[in-house]
Amino acid sequence: MEATYNNWLVALSLVLATGASFIALSLAARIPHIHKSTLWYWLTGGAVSMGLGIWSMHFVGMLAFHLPIPLAYDIELTLLSIVLGIMASGFSLYVVRNGIKDNIALLVSALLMGSGIAGMHYTGMAALRMSPPIEYDPILFIASLLIAFAASFFALKLCFSAGERDLVKMLGLERLTASVIMGAAIAGMHYTGMTAAIFSPDAVCLVASSGISPGLMSVLVVLGVTIILIFTLLLLMVDLKLAEKERFMLETLRRHNARLKDQAEQLAEEMTREVEESARKDRLLAAIVEQSGVAICTTDLEGKITSWNRSAEEMFGYHEQEVMGQKTSILYPPDADEEYREARQRIERERGCEITGWRMRKGGELIHVQINISPLYDAAHERVGAVAVIRDVTERRKAEEQLKLWASVYEHSGEGILITDNNNITISVNQAFVDITGYEADEIIGRDPMILGSGQHSKEFYHELWRELLEEGIWQGEIWNRKKDGSIFPEWLTITTIKDSGGTIRNYIAIFSDITEQKEREAYIQHLAHHDPLTGLPNRNLLRDRVEQAILHARRHEDYVAVLFLDLDRFKHINDTMGHDVGDRLLKAVAGRLRSYVRESDTICRQGGDEFIVVLTDVDHPSTVVSIVEKILHGLSESYQLDEYEVIVTPSIGISLFPDDSQDIDELIGHADAAMYHAKDLGRGNYQFFTQALNEMVATRVVIEKELRNALLNDEFELYFQPQVTLDTESLSGVEALIRWNNPKLGMVPPDSFISLSEEIGLIYDIGEWVLRSACKVIKQWQVRYSEGIRVAINVSVKQLSRQGFADRVLEIVEECGIDPAYLEFEVTESALMVAIEHSIEVLEVFRKYGIKVAIDDFGSGYSSLNYLRRLPIDKLKIDRSFIGGLPEAADEREISNAIIAMGHGLHLKVIAEGVERVEQADYLKLLGCDEVQGYFYSRPLPQSEFERYYEDRFGVSLSEGVD
Ligand code: C2E
Ligand code: CA
Ligand code: CA
Repeated sequence: MEATYNNWLVALSLVLATGASFIALSLAARIPHIHKSTLWYWLTGGAVSMGLGIWSMHFVGMLAFHLPIPLAYDIELTLLSIVLGIMASGFSLYVVRNGIKDNIALLVSALLMGSGIAGMHYTGMAALRMSPPIEYDPILFIASLLIAFAASFFALKLCFSAGERDLVKMLGLERLTASVIMGAAIAGMHYTGMTAAIFSPDAVCLVASSGISPGLMSVLVVLGVTIILIFTLLLLMVDLKLAEKERFMLETLRRHNARLKDQAEQLAEEMTREVEESARKDRLLAAIVEQSGVAICTTDLEGKITSWNRSAEEMFGYHEQEVMGQKTSILYPPDADEEYREARQRIERERGCEITGWRMRKGGELIHVQINISPLYDAAHERVGAVAVIRDVTERRKAEEQLKLWASVYEHSGEGILITDNNNITISVNQAFVDITGYEADEIIGRDPMILGSGQHSKEFYHELWRELLEEGIWQGEIWNRKKDGSIFPEWLTITTIKDSGGTIRNYIAIFSDITEQKEREAYIQHLAHHDPLTGLPNRNLLRDRVEQAILHARRHEDYVAVLFLDLDRFKHINDTMGHDVGDRLLKAVAGRLRSYVRESDTICRQGGDEFIVVLTDVDHPSTVVSIVEKILHGLSESYQLDEYEVIVTPSIGISLFPDDSQDIDELIGHADAAMYHAKDLGRGNYQFFTQALNEMVATRVVIEKELRNALLNDEFELYFQPQVTLDTESLSGVEALIRWNNPKLGMVPPDSFISLSEEIGLIYDIGEWVLRSACKVIKQWQVRYSEGIRVAINVSVKQLSRQGFADRVLEIVEECGIDPAYLEFEVTESALMVAIEHSIEVLEVFRKYGIKVAIDDFGSGYSSLNYLRRLPIDKLKIDRSFIGGLPEAADEREISNAIIAMGHGLHLKVIAEGVERVEQADYLKLLGCDEVQGYFYSRPLPQSEFERYYEDRFGVSLSEGVD
C-alpha cells in the first residue's frame, strides 16, 4: 500500500517543530533562573507547552501522512502519546533546571529525552490501530531513534555548552536558527520513523473515524497548540522582563554592597594606619621628651610634678623618683616663697607664659633658668595641669652680664677707645674719646683715625707702627695727636688687632690716655730728682751726667776737666747755734755766690749737707783752675749778712783733674773728696790738689774702716801708758793712756790713722767707752797694787764730749769699777771744747763736782779765746808738742811756752809740756816753772806690765801689802 504526504501539512509540522524548539530553548534558558517558589509551575507549564508543541508537530506530520484507506486515531493512544511528549519535555526541563555537570549526565539525559520523543512518536503511530499492525523497517527504525537521541543531545548541549548569559542573551536570530535546526532534527526523526513504517497492503484502520477531516483537525490542533505556545512565550517574556528588572536591582544592590564593602575596608585600613601612626607619634614624642636637651616637666593642677625627663634630672640633680608628686617649690631658693606664689598665679591666670629666675639644684647650687609654661589638656580638652620647658641660661646670663660689664667699662673707661673695621675706618668711639679729643662720635665714625694725626711723626714712624701692629698684633707707645681744636697733646696709645676664628683681622682697637699731665708731672719729678730743692742746683744724680758730658767734650778738645769738692768748715756749728733757717739761707747764699764765679757751661751741684761739687770744663791748663779756685775760696770766705746775723764761713776745697788723676767719673769725684779731707786736715779754709800719696792714704782708709768695725769684737785694742813726771820732785805725777790697735792684717796701727776715721763713722763712741772702762780697771788695779795709786789721763774726742748723756755714762762706769774719780783725768782738745762751748762747760762742771780732772790738750794749736778759758772748769793746760821740739833754741817757741806757762799759772791751772825728748828741754821747762813733763825722754808709751816694771824700777815704788 502506497503512502502519500500532504505537503502543506508537512511544512506546517516543520514550523511547529521549530516553534516548539524555540519555546524549549527559551524555557531551558530561563528555568535555571526561575525563583524556587515558582519553579514547579514553570516546569509543569513549560513541560505541557513544550510537550504539546512537539506532539502537535508529530500529530500534524501524521495528519500529512496519507494512506489510500481511511485513517483515524485511537483517542487513548493519542492521549498517551501526548502524555509521553509532555513527560519527555518535563524531564528535559527538570534536567536543565540545575544544569548538567558532565558529559555522562548529558548522554543519559539525551537518551532519556530521545526515548521519550521516540516513545511519543511510536505511540502516536500505534494510535492508528492498523490491522495487520504496522511493521517497521529495522534500520530506519534505529535511525529514527538515533535522530531522536541526536536531536535531544544537540538541544541539551546547546543549552549547557553555551554560558548562561549567552543563552539568555542569545540573539533572536541565533536562537531561531538553533530552533530551526532542532525542529528539523525532530521532524527528521518523525519522518524517518514514518518511513520505517511498512503498512501491509491489506491493512485497515480499526479506529472509527471521528468525522472530522484531517485538514480541519490539524487546523484545530495547530491553533490550540499555537495559542498555548504563544501564551507560554508571552509568559516567558514577561517573566524575563521581571527577571531582568530583578536582576538589575540585584546587580545594583550587589554593586552597592561591593562599594560599601570597599569603603568599609578602606575605612578599616585608614583607621589601623591612624592608630599605628598615633602610637608611633606617641613613642616619638616620649623619646623626644626624654632625650631632648631641654628639661621638660609636667605638673598637675596643684603644681605637683607628674613627669620629669632626663635633662631635668641632669639640670637639677634630682632623680625622677625624688620629685614625682612634689611641688615645684622645692626647685626654688629658700627665700623665694613670694616668687613661687607669683609664678603659680601667672600659670593659673595666663594661657602660657615665660618665666626667668634663679632656681636651686639639689646640692644648693643656684642656676638661672628660662621656663616656658603651657597649659596641658586631656583628650576631653579639660585642663589637667601644665608643661614646663626649662633651659639653663646661667652661662648665657653670665655672658650677658659680662657683656653689659664690658659695655659699661667701654663707655665709662677713663681711657679713650676707638674701634675701626678691617679697612681702618672708624666704627665706634667711647665717651672718653669724645672728652679727650673734642670730636663728637658722628664726626669721626666712618672716617680714618688719621684725621687725629698731629704731623709730628714721620712717615717711617707710622710705617714702623703698622708693621709691628700687623706682625705682633699689638703696638704700644707714645704718640702726639691733634684735638679738634687744633691743639697737640701726647697720648699713651695701645692698638690691638682683633681677629676672627680664621685669623683674618676684623677690627683694630685703639686705647689711649692723654698723658699731658703725666708728662708734666714726670718733668717735675725729673727736675726734683735731679735738682736740690733748696738751692735749685743740680744734685748728684745729674752731676754724673754733666761730668760724663764734660769728659766727652774734653776728650774731643784735648783739654782738662776739673772736679772741685767743696765743704763748708764748721757749718754744723752754725746750724746748731743759729738754727737751721740760718743754715739754709747760708747754703742758698753760697750757691748764689758760686754761680757768679763760674761760667755758664760749668756745673755747680749740691752734693748734700754743706758739700758742693763744681765741674769746670774747657780747662786748658791746671794752672787756670788755681785762679778760679782762689776766687771761690776768697769769695765764699767773705762775711754773709743773713738778717741780723753776720756769718763767716770758709770752704775746704779738694780738686781732681781729668785726665791726669783719673779717666773715671766716680774716681774723679772720690779723688776730689779725698783732697778736700786733706785740706781739712791741713787746717781748713784752703784748697788741695789730689796727689798719688793722698790716693794711697785713701786706699788704706778703706781697708782700715773695714777692719776697724770688727776690732772691738776681736779684742784688738790695748792701752799703752806714758808717764808724766813732776819736774820739782822728779816723781811720777800720773800717766796718759794711749790706745793701740794691733790688727792681724795691718799690724800695729797708730791712733792718728784711725781715731779721726772712727769719729767719722761713729765708732768713736764704742771705742771711747772701751778706753774709759779699761782705764778705770787699771786705776782699780793700781789702787790695789800701789799704796798711793796712779792718776790716769785719757783722751776724749769732741764727738764723745758733745754727745748727750756723756757725763752720766762716765759716772756710771766709775761707779761700776769702784774707783776714786780723783784718779781719772780727761784730755780734751781746744777745738773740741770750742764746738759747743756751753754744753762743754756743763759737762765739765759735772766732772769737777765728782773730782774728775780735766786738761786741755794740744794747747796753743787752736784758736782758744782767753775769755772762754777763764770760764772753763779745767785743771790743766797741756802745751802742744809743736812748741816743745824747738826748745830751748828757738826764740818763738821759748816765748810761746813761756807765755802759756805764765797764763796757765795766772788762771791757777797746772801746766804740763808734752813731747819732751831731751834733757835740755826738761831743764828749760823747769826753769820756766812748768809743773810737769811727758815725753820720750822719760819713756815711750808702754804696755801695762812694762809700765809697771818701769815704774817700780825707776821710782822704787813699794807695792801695797799683799801684792808681789
Ligand atoms: P796726744 O794726746 O797729743 O798724745 C801724745 C802723742 O805724742 C802720743 O802719740 C805719744 O806717743 C806722742 N809722744 C809722747 N812723747 C813724745 C815725744 O817725746 N816725742 C814725740 N814725737 N811724740 C811723743 P800717739 O800715742 O801716737 O797718739 C797720737 C794721738 O792720738 C794723741 O795725741 C791723741 O790725740 C790720740 N789718742 C791716742 N790715744 C787716744 C785715746 O785713747 N783716745 C782718743 N780720743 N785719742 C787718742
Ligand atoms: Ca793727749
Ligand atoms: Ca797732745
